[in-house]
Amino acid sequence: MVENVNTKRVAKRYYRKKNDLFSLLEKIKLWPSRSGRLHGILTITIHGEMATITTHCGKTFQVRNSRNSRAARWLRNKYYSGACTACGVPEWKLAKYGQTFFSRSYGAYLKPGDLRSCK
Ligand SMILES: [Zn+2]
Repeated sequence: MVENVNTKRVAKRYYRKKNDLFSLLEKIKLWPSRSGRLHGILTITIHGEMATITTHCGKTFQVRNSRNSRAARWLRNKYYSGACTACGVPEWKLAKYGQTFFSRSYGAYLKPGDLRSCK
């Protein structure tokens, strides 16, 4: 079924701040680079406390699973200046991210195990 995302109101979603970085990345599929660009995540492969991320624009790098890392903070605070044009992040994904909120006391706990097992 094809949904018309432009006319559909984007539902707000809430996640706990305590969720680890990898769970958030798997859910949101966006990566805030140091230059302030949001990249689309093509693949994320988790091995222990490290993960290898490949973006749609072809960059591959390793990240550590930390809730307090720069990327985790920027992701939660929606600190970015625009989407990477080479990644071609679709409008609906940005809208969805824009309606995603992080709270200490409210929202969903993401279960990394569940997400990782359904690959
Ligand atoms: Zn990119």
